[in-house]
Amino acid sequence: MKIWAISNQKGGVAKTTTVVTLGGLLASWGFKTLLVDLDPHGSLSSYFKMNPDELEVSVYNLFQDASRKIGLNPGLYITETGVDRLFLLPASTAIATLDRQSRDIDGLGLVISKSLFAVSNQYDYVLIDSPPMLGALMINALAACEFLIVPVQTEFLALKGLERMFQTLNMIEKSRGISLNFAIVPTLFDRRTRASIQSLRVLREQYPPFVWDSVIPVDTKIRDASRAGIPASHYVPKSKAVIAYMHLLESIMVQTMGNTKKVVSLS
Ligand code: ADP
Ligand code: MG
Repeated sequence: MKIWAISNQKGGVAKTTTVVTLGGLLASWGFKTLLVDLDPHGSLSSYFKMNPDELEVSVYNLFQDASRKIGLNPGLYITETGVDRLFLLPASTAIATLDRQSRDIDGLGLVISKSLFAVSNQYDYVLIDSPPMLGALMINALAACEFLIVPVQTEFLALKGLERMFQTLNMIEKSRGISLNFAIVPTLFDRRTRASIQSLRVLREQYPPFVWDSVIPVDTKIRDASRAGIPASHYVPKSKAVIAYMHLLESIMVQTMGNTKKVVSLS
């Protein structure tokens, strides 16, 4: 099982879209794929027409089980998405309270890592939608993954957010004692605007080895798919954004080949 997190400490950069579209592509390529919503806004869950304010079971239960020292069994909380081979561990808005709680309870930083270990023979891929703020949930996402995808909107302010993301990454790498492989993915690229073209150039100058060599273009069909609640990979498979996501997926698969998650002790 491969675990990838999609993270950036900025909202609106296409994190959730990247999770849904790559997840849909993996499922359509025959891989059993689990999407994990770790954003208290629950946008990934909302995408699939679930209401994060009213969910009775969600990823929140895993944190409750962990603090009560109950065995972690994410299978109890995973739901279908309506797309073959694509499953969802949804978020309820209650997970917003975890940052406060986790200061009191040791070990909550590894809840997702340990939970995924419990289902590691059931899925081929796991994609984690990470929240836009640094806290217990982002720590969980980064601690669980073997590869990190950092979507960056091609506009000027986005580059600032990236510096913060790198500081967080450094901190996590120090505490895990390993270096995390990652790719920066330029998103919402509009070749008609100077802001897109110039910010892409700056991105490539500042972070040359980490920036994926193509871009995800702005494509209104992404919004149509989102309104329909169906991954763009299934709703508009020939759209230019989906084709760009296919190239991205191929390139990450090559980059992560032979690189599987290290086993985390369950003690
Ligand atoms: P995040 O999860 O980082 O907050 P989202 O994935 O929710 O970002 O995307 C923000 C908005 O941009 C959403 O309305 C989404 O539909 C839209 N969007 C994302 N990618 C594209 C794209 N390639 N073309 C057009 N709109 C997009
Ligand atoms: Mg989101």
